[in-house]
Amino acid sequence: MSNFKNYVNGEWTESASGETFENVNPADSRDIIGTFPKSGNADVAKAIEAASTAYKVWSAMPAPKRGDILRVAGDIFNRRKDELARVMTREMGKPVFETKGDIQEAIDTAYYSATETRRLFGYTAPSEMPNKMNLSFRMPIGVCGIITAWNFPIAVPSWKILPALACGNTIVWKPSEDSPMSANIFAEILEEAGVPKGVFNVIHGLGETGSAIVEHPDVKLIGFTGSTVTGKKIAERCGALNKKVSLEMGGKNAVIIMNDADIDLAIEGVLWGAFGTTGQRCTATSRAIVHKDVYDIFLQKLTEKTIALKLGAGLEDSTQVGPVINKKQYEKILGYIEIGKEQGARLVTGGAKAEGADVEHGNFIQPTVFADVTNDMRIFKEEIFGPVLSVSKANSYSHAIELANDCEYGLSSSIYTSDVNLAFSAIRSIEAGITYINAPTIGAEAHMPFGGIKGTGNGHREGGWTVFDIFTEWKTVYIDYSGGLQRAQIDNY
Ligand code: NAD
Repeated sequence: MSNFKNYVNGEWTESASGETFENVNPADSRDIIGTFPKSGNADVAKAIEAASTAYKVWSAMPAPKRGDILRVAGDIFNRRKDELARVMTREMGKPVFETKGDIQEAIDTAYYSATETRRLFGYTAPSEMPNKMNLSFRMPIGVCGIITAWNFPIAVPSWKILPALACGNTIVWKPSEDSPMSANIFAEILEEAGVPKGVFNVIHGLGETGSAIVEHPDVKLIGFTGSTVTGKKIAERCGALNKKVSLEMGGKNAVIIMNDADIDLAIEGVLWGAFGTTGQRCTATSRAIVHKDVYDIFLQKLTEKTIALKLGAGLEDSTQVGPVINKKQYEKILGYIEIGKEQGARLVTGGAKAEGADVEHGNFIQPTVFADVTNDMRIFKEEIFGPVLSVSKANSYSHAIELANDCEYGLSSSIYTSDVNLAFSAIRSIEAGITYINAPTIGAEAHMPFGGIKGTGNGHREGGWTVFDIFTEWKTVYIDYSGGLQRAQIDNY
C-alpha cells in the first residue's frame, strides 16, 4: 500500500497533521489502493498562498502561450490514457471502456481550451461621444477553488480546471476522497506539460478540506460539482463571503418514450442511460416515462436486456456494469429499493445486492427496474445515484411532459419519438438544461454548454464557450482621445 501526497507549489507534500484516509477499490474491499492526506486549514492555506503568488506570473502570460501548455497536456492525457483509465477503474469502479471515455473528455477539453486561448474575444462598441473608443476584455479572476465528485474523476475536473487555466486563473483543487489517485495523475500530467509551480495545486481530504477552501479569503471563486445538499451549503457560504460560485449538482433525469418511438432503439438508450456508470451519473436515466400503448412491450424487452447485463469488476473486459462507489452509497441505494417496494412500486427485476464469487467482496447491486411508479413515490422524486430505474405510465404526450417536469432537478432529459412535431414541442416544454432527441440522457460533448436548471445548478454552464463566463470577469475600457472632458449622458444630449 502506498502513501500518496498533496501536490502544492510543484512539490509532493504530506498534510501538516500527518492524518490520512484510505482509498479502497469498490469492486474488492480487500484491495486498499493507498492512503491520502486528510488536509487541514494549514495545508489549504499553503496551497492558496502558492496559487496566489503564481497568479501574478500566470495571469500575465499571453493567453495563447498558456494554450500551448494546455495542448501539450492534452497530448500527455492521450499518451497516458490506458494507464490512467485502469487507475480510475480501480478506484471508482466503472469499466475501463468508460474510464477511457472519461479521459477522452479531458483530452477534448484540453484541445478546446487551448484553441480558445486565441479566441477569448471581447466586444468593441461605438461610443456615444466623438473621439472616444469603447472596448471590453475578459480578465482572469484569481485563485479558484475547485471541489469535485468521484463519478467522473478526470472529465468533470477538466471541464473546470483547463478552461480556468486558459483564462489565467490559478487553482487549488480538492478532488473527491473516493477518487484521489486519478487527481494525482492529473497533477503529474499538468506538471509534465509545463504548468509552472503553484499554478495548479491538489489538496486531498474530506468535506472539511473543501470547506476550508471555500472559507479562505484569497479564494475568489468556487467551482463545485457534487450533491445538491453540499452545493447549497457552499452557495450559502459563498453568498455570505461574496464569492462567485458555479454549481453542478444532482439530477433525476427522465426519458419519455412515445408510442411512435423505435422501441428497440429506446431500450438500448435506456439501458445505457440507466445502468452505464452503474447509474452513478448526474445525467443518468433515472425515470422512464412510457406511453401506455407501448408500456408492456417496453417493460418486457427492457427486463430481458437488464437481466442479461454482465455485472463485475470494471477491470474485467466482459464487465458492463461495475460496483457502486462505497459502502455508504451501497446502503443508501439498497435503502431506496426497500422504499420503492414499501411504497407499492412493482419490482420487475433486480432489487437486491448481487450474489456470486465475482462480486462477493465489492459493492455490487443488481441492476433494478421498478414499474408502475407514480409521482408521489420517493423513488420517482429523489436522486438515488445507483442502478435503479423507475418506469411510469403516461396516458398521452402532455401527461408524459407533466410527469417529466414533476421534479425538483433539471439537468438532462430525452424523448424517443418519430413525430417531428412532438420532438420540437418537447425541446421547448421539458424543464432541463439538456434535451436529447432519440438518444439517451447521457452523452455530453466537451464543446457544448453543460449544466442544469432548478435544483441542479445556479445559472452557470460548464463546457463550450459558456465556461469562460464562469472563469472570467469583464473589464470595460473607455479611451477618450478628444483631448477634452466629455461627460457621458450630460454633454452629448
Ligand atoms: P458530495 O456533495 O458528497 O461531495 C462532492 C465534493 O464536495 C467532494 O469532494 C466532497 O469531499 C466535498 N464536500 C463535501 N462536503 C463539503 C462541504 N461542506 N464543503 C465543501 N466541500 C464539501 O457529492 P458526491 O457524493 O461526491 O457526488 C455525487 C453527487 O454529485 C450526485 O448528486 C451527482 O448528481 C452530483 N454530480 C453532478 C454533476 C453535474 O455536473 N451536475 C456531475 C457529477 C456528479
